[in-house]
Amino acid sequence: MLPEFDLLRPKTVSEALGMLAEDVAMLIAGGTNVLVDLRAGKYQPKALIDIARLSGLRGIRRDNGHLLIGGGTTISDLLIDPLIAQHATALKEAASVFANPLIRNRATVGGNLADASPAADTAPPLLALDAEVELATLDGTRRVPLVDFLVGVRKTLRRPDELLIAVRFPLSSSGTVSHFQKVGLRRADAISVLSAAVAVTCDAEGRCTAARIALGALAPRPLRATAAETLLIGQKLTPAAIAEAARLAGEAARPINDIRGSADYRRQVTEVIVRRLLDKVLITEALA
Ligand SMILES: Cc1cc2nc3c(=O)[nH]c(=O)nc-3n(C[C@H](O)[C@H](O)[C@H](O)COP(=O)(O)OP(=O)(O)OC[C@H]3O[C@@H](n4cnc5c(N)ncnc54)[C@H](O)[C@@H]3O)c2cc1C
Repeated sequence: MLPEFDLLRPKTVSEALGMLAEDVAMLIAGGTNVLVDLRAGKYQPKALIDIARLSGLRGIRRDNGHLLIGGGTTISDLLIDPLIAQHATALKEAASVFANPLIRNRATVGGNLADASPAADTAPPLLALDAEVELATLDGTRRVPLVDFLVGVRKTLRRPDELLIAVRFPLSSSGTVSHFQKVGLRRADAISVLSAAVAVTCDAEGRCTAARIALGALAPRPLRATAAETLLIGQKLTPAAIAEAARLAGEAARPINDIRGSADYRRQVTEVIVRRLLDKVLITEALA
Protein backbone atom coordinates (compact mmCIF):
# COMPACT_ATOMS: atom_id res chain seq x y z
CA MET A 1 0.00 0.00 0.00
CA LEU A 2 1.12 3.55 -0.64
CA PRO A 3 1.81 5.72 2.44
CA GLU A 4 0.02 9.07 2.70
CA PHE A 5 1.69 12.14 1.25
CA ASP A 6 0.80 15.57 -0.09
CA LEU A 7 1.15 15.96 -3.85
CA LEU A 8 2.57 19.33 -4.89
CA ARG A 9 2.05 20.36 -8.50
CA PRO A 10 4.32 23.25 -9.53
CA LYS A 11 3.43 24.97 -12.81
CA THR A 12 6.95 26.07 -13.68
CA VAL A 13 10.50 24.87 -13.16
CA SER A 14 11.27 27.82 -10.86
CA GLU A 15 8.18 27.05 -8.75
CA ALA A 16 9.47 23.44 -8.46
CA LEU A 17 12.90 24.74 -7.40
CA GLY A 18 11.25 26.91 -4.73
CA MET A 19 9.40 23.88 -3.34
CA LEU A 20 12.59 21.80 -3.43
CA ALA A 21 14.49 24.49 -1.50
CA GLU A 22 12.09 24.08 1.44
CA ASP A 23 13.55 20.58 1.93
CA VAL A 24 10.33 18.81 2.91
CA ALA A 25 9.41 17.07 -0.31
CA MET A 26 10.98 14.73 -2.85
CA LEU A 27 10.67 14.83 -6.61
CA ILE A 28 8.52 12.49 -8.62
CA ALA A 29 8.76 12.48 -12.43
CA GLY A 30 7.44 9.36 -14.18
CA GLY A 31 7.19 7.66 -10.78
CA THR A 32 8.37 4.31 -12.15
CA ASN A 33 11.01 4.04 -9.44
CA VAL A 34 9.46 6.28 -6.77
CA LEU A 35 6.15 4.42 -6.60
CA VAL A 36 7.88 1.03 -6.37
CA ASP A 37 10.09 2.35 -3.54
CA LEU A 38 7.14 3.97 -1.70
CA ARG A 39 5.18 0.72 -1.85
CA ALA A 40 8.24 -1.14 -0.53
CA GLY A 41 8.42 1.32 2.39
CA LYS A 42 11.92 2.56 1.46
CA TYR A 43 10.97 6.12 2.40
CA GLN A 44 7.99 8.09 3.63
CA PRO A 45 8.15 11.65 2.32
CA LYS A 46 5.68 14.19 3.72
CA ALA A 47 5.15 15.46 0.18
CA LEU A 48 6.02 14.70 -3.44
CA ILE A 49 6.74 17.40 -6.01
CA ASP A 50 5.22 16.21 -9.27
CA ILE A 51 7.41 17.46 -12.13
CA ALA A 52 5.95 15.21 -14.84
CA ARG A 53 3.83 17.99 -16.34
CA LEU A 54 6.55 20.64 -16.55
CA SER A 55 6.91 21.32 -20.27
CA GLY A 56 10.06 23.37 -19.54
CA LEU A 57 11.83 20.18 -18.49
CA ARG A 58 10.94 18.19 -21.59
CA GLY A 59 12.41 18.24 -25.08
CA ILE A 60 15.51 17.72 -27.18
CA ARG A 61 17.36 20.52 -29.01
CA ARG A 62 20.71 21.69 -30.29
CA ASP A 63 22.48 24.09 -27.93
CA ASN A 64 25.79 25.70 -28.84
CA GLY A 65 27.45 22.66 -30.41
CA HIS A 66 25.76 20.27 -28.00
CA LEU A 67 22.62 18.18 -27.95
CA LEU A 68 20.52 19.03 -24.91
CA ILE A 69 17.92 16.61 -23.52
CA GLY A 70 15.57 18.01 -20.87
CA GLY A 71 15.49 16.05 -17.62
CA GLY A 72 11.75 15.43 -18.04
CA THR A 73 12.14 13.94 -21.52
CA THR A 74 10.64 10.47 -21.60
CA ILE A 75 12.28 7.34 -22.94
CA SER A 76 9.53 7.23 -25.62
CA ASP A 77 10.49 10.78 -26.69
CA LEU A 78 14.04 9.51 -27.38
CA LEU A 79 12.69 6.89 -29.76
CA ILE A 80 10.93 9.33 -32.08
CA ASP A 81 13.27 12.33 -32.03
CA PRO A 82 15.18 12.97 -35.29
CA LEU A 83 18.16 14.59 -33.50
CA ILE A 84 18.60 11.50 -31.32
CA ALA A 85 18.36 9.29 -34.42
CA GLN A 86 20.99 11.43 -36.15
CA HIS A 87 23.48 11.99 -33.32
CA ALA A 88 22.92 9.40 -30.62
CA THR A 89 22.24 5.96 -32.09
CA ALA A 90 23.42 4.29 -28.87
CA LEU A 91 20.83 6.21 -26.82
CA LYS A 92 18.06 5.34 -29.27
CA GLU A 93 19.11 1.68 -29.16
CA ALA A 94 19.01 1.79 -25.34
CA ALA A 95 15.54 3.39 -25.41
CA SER A 96 14.27 0.69 -27.76
CA VAL A 97 15.05 -2.08 -25.24
CA PHE A 98 14.13 -0.10 -22.11
CA ALA A 99 11.38 -1.79 -20.04
CA ASN A 100 8.13 -1.92 -22.04
CA PRO A 101 6.08 0.70 -23.94
CA LEU A 102 3.95 1.68 -20.90
CA ILE A 103 7.01 2.34 -18.72
CA ARG A 104 8.80 4.10 -21.58
CA ASN A 105 5.89 6.56 -21.85
CA ARG A 106 6.30 7.56 -18.17
CA ALA A 107 9.99 7.02 -17.37
CA THR A 108 12.24 10.05 -17.81
CA VAL A 109 15.92 10.47 -18.61
CA GLY A 110 16.35 12.65 -15.49
CA GLY A 111 14.69 10.02 -13.29
CA ASN A 112 16.85 7.26 -14.76
CA LEU A 113 20.08 9.17 -14.05
CA ALA A 114 19.04 10.61 -10.66
CA ASP A 115 17.96 7.15 -9.49
CA ALA A 116 21.48 5.90 -10.35
CA SER A 117 20.86 2.19 -10.59
CA PRO A 118 24.03 0.41 -11.80
CA ALA A 119 21.75 -1.07 -14.48
CA ALA A 120 20.23 2.26 -15.63
CA ASP A 121 20.05 1.84 -19.39
CA THR A 122 20.51 5.47 -20.42
CA ALA A 123 23.79 5.75 -18.48
CA PRO A 124 26.19 3.74 -20.72
CA PRO A 125 25.18 5.48 -23.97
CA LEU A 126 25.29 8.91 -22.32
CA LEU A 127 28.71 8.12 -20.77
CA ALA A 128 29.96 7.00 -24.18
CA LEU A 129 28.66 10.26 -25.67
CA ASP A 130 30.61 12.19 -22.99
CA ALA A 131 27.52 13.70 -21.39
CA GLU A 132 27.25 16.21 -18.56
CA VAL A 133 24.23 16.78 -16.33
CA GLU A 134 22.85 20.23 -15.55
CA LEU A 135 21.70 20.67 -11.96
CA ALA A 136 19.63 23.71 -11.01
CA THR A 137 18.72 25.40 -7.74
CA LEU A 138 17.10 28.80 -7.11
CA ASP A 139 20.66 30.20 -6.99
CA GLY A 140 21.81 28.97 -10.40
CA THR A 141 22.95 25.99 -12.43
CA ARG A 142 26.06 23.81 -12.35
CA ARG A 143 27.28 21.23 -14.83
CA VAL A 144 28.81 17.94 -13.74
CA PRO A 145 30.31 15.28 -16.04
CA LEU A 146 28.03 12.24 -15.89
CA VAL A 147 31.04 10.06 -15.10
CA ASP A 148 31.48 12.02 -11.82
CA PHE A 149 27.75 12.46 -11.13
CA LEU A 150 27.15 8.71 -10.70
CA VAL A 151 29.02 7.77 -7.54
CA GLY A 152 27.61 4.41 -6.43
CA VAL A 153 24.58 2.18 -6.14
CA ARG A 154 21.67 4.67 -6.25
CA LYS A 155 24.02 7.47 -5.16
CA THR A 156 24.81 10.65 -7.09
CA LEU A 157 26.42 14.02 -6.48
CA ARG A 158 22.97 15.67 -6.59
CA ARG A 159 22.24 17.85 -3.56
CA PRO A 160 18.70 17.57 -2.14
CA ASP A 161 17.71 21.04 -3.43
CA GLU A 162 18.94 20.36 -6.98
CA LEU A 163 16.78 19.50 -9.96
CA LEU A 164 18.38 17.65 -12.88
CA ILE A 165 17.14 19.96 -15.60
CA ALA A 166 19.06 18.55 -18.56
CA VAL A 167 21.74 16.26 -19.86
CA ARG A 168 23.96 17.43 -22.72
CA PHE A 169 26.74 16.06 -24.88
CA PRO A 170 28.96 17.56 -27.60
CA LEU A 171 28.08 17.08 -31.26
CA SER A 172 31.18 15.99 -33.14
CA SER A 173 31.67 17.75 -36.49
CA SER A 174 33.38 14.70 -37.98
CA GLY A 175 30.55 12.37 -36.97
CA THR A 176 30.68 9.98 -34.04
CA VAL A 177 29.29 6.48 -34.51
CA SER A 178 27.74 5.00 -31.38
CA HIS A 179 26.02 1.73 -30.52
CA PHE A 180 24.52 0.06 -27.43
CA GLN A 181 23.68 -3.49 -26.47
CA LYS A 182 22.02 -4.92 -23.40
CA VAL A 183 21.86 -8.50 -22.19
CA GLY A 184 18.78 -9.40 -20.17
CA LEU A 185 17.16 -12.63 -19.05
CA ARG A 186 14.46 -12.11 -21.67
CA ARG A 187 14.08 -10.00 -24.78
CA ALA A 188 11.70 -7.39 -23.37
CA ASP A 189 10.96 -5.78 -20.00
CA ALA A 190 14.23 -7.04 -18.53
CA ILE A 191 16.70 -5.44 -16.15
CA SER A 192 20.17 -5.43 -17.69
CA VAL A 193 22.37 -8.34 -16.64
CA LEU A 194 25.01 -6.23 -18.32
CA SER A 195 25.12 -3.57 -20.99
CA ALA A 196 27.72 -1.70 -22.99
CA ALA A 197 27.89 1.32 -25.27
CA VAL A 198 30.64 2.53 -27.57
CA ALA A 199 31.12 5.87 -29.31
CA VAL A 200 33.95 6.17 -31.82
CA THR A 201 35.11 9.01 -34.07
CA CYS A 202 37.49 8.16 -36.93
CA ASP A 203 39.44 10.33 -39.37
CA ALA A 204 39.33 10.01 -43.16
CA GLU A 205 41.87 7.16 -43.04
CA GLY A 206 39.79 5.24 -40.54
CA ARG A 207 41.99 5.91 -37.50
CA CYS A 208 40.18 6.51 -34.21
CA THR A 209 40.51 10.10 -33.00
CA ALA A 210 38.15 9.51 -30.07
CA ALA A 211 36.85 6.32 -28.50
CA ARG A 212 34.67 5.88 -25.45
CA ILE A 213 33.44 2.56 -24.09
CA ALA A 214 30.95 2.47 -21.20
CA LEU A 215 29.70 -0.49 -19.21
CA GLY A 216 26.44 -0.93 -17.28
CA ALA A 217 25.50 -3.35 -14.47
CA LEU A 218 29.14 -4.40 -14.22
CA ALA A 219 30.19 -2.39 -11.15
CA PRO A 220 28.46 -0.37 -8.38
CA ARG A 221 28.09 2.42 -10.95
CA PRO A 222 28.18 2.56 -14.75
CA LEU A 223 31.82 3.03 -15.73
CA ARG A 224 34.19 3.77 -18.61
CA ALA A 225 36.69 1.17 -19.86
CA THR A 226 39.52 3.67 -20.17
CA ALA A 227 42.38 1.24 -20.97
CA ALA A 228 40.38 -0.11 -23.91
CA GLU A 229 39.63 3.45 -25.06
CA THR A 230 43.30 4.49 -24.91
CA LEU A 231 44.34 1.43 -26.91
CA LEU A 232 42.05 2.42 -29.79
CA ILE A 233 43.21 6.04 -30.17
CA GLY A 234 45.27 6.47 -33.35
CA GLN A 235 44.49 2.91 -34.49
CA LYS A 236 42.31 1.54 -37.26
CA LEU A 237 39.54 -0.78 -36.15
CA THR A 238 41.32 -3.94 -37.28
CA PRO A 239 40.15 -7.33 -35.96
CA ALA A 240 43.25 -7.43 -33.71
CA ALA A 241 42.63 -3.93 -32.27
CA ILE A 242 38.95 -4.72 -31.70
CA ALA A 243 39.76 -8.02 -29.97
CA GLU A 244 42.32 -6.38 -27.68
CA ALA A 245 39.99 -3.47 -26.81
CA ALA A 246 37.21 -5.96 -26.02
CA ARG A 247 39.57 -7.96 -23.80
CA LEU A 248 40.55 -4.81 -21.89
CA ALA A 249 36.88 -3.83 -21.51
CA GLY A 250 36.20 -7.24 -19.98
CA GLU A 251 39.07 -6.62 -17.56
CA ALA A 252 37.59 -3.25 -16.55
CA ALA A 253 34.33 -4.88 -15.45
CA ARG A 254 33.92 -5.47 -11.71
CA PRO A 255 30.78 -7.60 -11.75
CA ILE A 256 29.01 -9.36 -8.92
CA ASN A 257 27.35 -12.78 -8.70
CA ASP A 258 23.58 -12.41 -8.35
CA ILE A 259 20.36 -14.09 -9.39
CA ARG A 260 20.72 -12.72 -12.92
CA GLY A 261 24.19 -14.05 -13.65
CA SER A 262 27.59 -14.94 -12.27
CA ALA A 263 30.52 -12.52 -12.25
CA ASP A 264 32.42 -14.85 -14.63
CA TYR A 265 29.56 -14.97 -17.11
CA ARG A 266 29.21 -11.19 -17.00
CA ARG A 267 32.92 -10.62 -17.61
CA GLN A 268 33.06 -13.05 -20.56
CA VAL A 269 29.93 -11.66 -22.17
CA THR A 270 31.22 -8.09 -21.74
CA GLU A 271 34.14 -9.00 -24.00
CA VAL A 272 31.81 -10.51 -26.59
CA ILE A 273 29.42 -7.54 -26.53
CA VAL A 274 32.15 -4.90 -26.80
CA ARG A 275 33.70 -6.79 -29.73
CA ARG A 276 30.33 -6.92 -31.48
CA LEU A 277 29.69 -3.22 -30.84
CA LEU A 278 33.07 -2.23 -32.31
CA ASP A 279 32.43 -4.50 -35.32
CA LYS A 280 29.12 -2.69 -35.74
CA VAL A 281 30.89 0.69 -35.65
CA LEU A 282 33.16 -0.53 -38.47
CA ILE A 283 30.17 -1.65 -40.55
CA THR A 284 28.30 1.65 -39.91
CA GLU A 285 31.40 3.61 -40.99
CA ALA A 286 31.81 1.49 -44.13
CA LEU A 287 28.20 2.12 -45.11
CA ALA A 288 28.32 5.88 -44.40
C1 LIG B 1 8.44 -2.58 -14.79
C2 LIG B 1 9.68 -1.71 -14.79
C3 LIG B 1 10.65 -1.93 -15.75
C4 LIG B 1 11.80 -1.14 -15.77
N1 LIG B 1 12.73 -1.37 -16.75
C5 LIG B 1 13.84 -0.60 -16.82
C6 LIG B 1 14.79 -0.79 -17.86
O1 LIG B 1 14.65 -1.65 -18.74
N2 LIG B 1 15.90 0.00 -17.85
C7 LIG B 1 16.12 0.95 -16.90
O2 LIG B 1 17.14 1.64 -16.96
N3 LIG B 1 15.20 1.18 -15.91
C8 LIG B 1 14.08 0.44 -15.85
N4 LIG B 1 13.16 0.65 -14.85
C9 LIG B 1 13.41 1.69 -13.84
C10 LIG B 1 12.75 3.05 -14.15
O3 LIG B 1 11.69 2.92 -15.07
C11 LIG B 1 13.77 4.06 -14.72
O4 LIG B 1 14.85 4.24 -13.84
C12 LIG B 1 13.13 5.41 -15.06
O5 LIG B 1 13.92 6.08 -16.02
C13 LIG B 1 12.95 6.34 -13.86
O6 LIG B 1 12.41 7.56 -14.34
P1 LIG B 1 11.11 8.20 -13.65
O7 LIG B 1 10.82 9.46 -14.39
O8 LIG B 1 10.01 7.21 -13.56
O9 LIG B 1 11.71 8.50 -12.21
P2 LIG B 1 10.95 8.62 -10.81
O10 LIG B 1 10.55 7.26 -10.34
O11 LIG B 1 9.92 9.67 -10.86
O12 LIG B 1 12.18 9.16 -9.93
C14 LIG B 1 13.32 8.36 -9.70
C15 LIG B 1 14.28 9.12 -8.76
O13 LIG B 1 14.83 10.24 -9.43
C16 LIG B 1 14.45 11.45 -8.78
N5 LIG B 1 14.16 12.38 -9.86
C17 LIG B 1 13.29 12.19 -10.88
N6 LIG B 1 13.41 13.20 -11.77
C18 LIG B 1 14.39 14.02 -11.32
C19 LIG B 1 14.98 15.22 -11.81
N7 LIG B 1 14.61 15.80 -12.98
N8 LIG B 1 15.95 15.81 -11.06
C20 LIG B 1 16.36 15.24 -9.90
N9 LIG B 1 15.84 14.11 -9.39
C21 LIG B 1 14.87 13.50 -10.10
C22 LIG B 1 13.25 11.11 -7.89
O14 LIG B 1 13.16 11.94 -6.78
C23 LIG B 1 13.60 9.68 -7.52
O15 LIG B 1 14.56 9.68 -6.48
C24 LIG B 1 11.99 -0.12 -14.79
C25 LIG B 1 10.99 0.10 -13.83
C26 LIG B 1 9.86 -0.68 -13.82
C27 LIG B 1 8.80 -0.41 -12.77
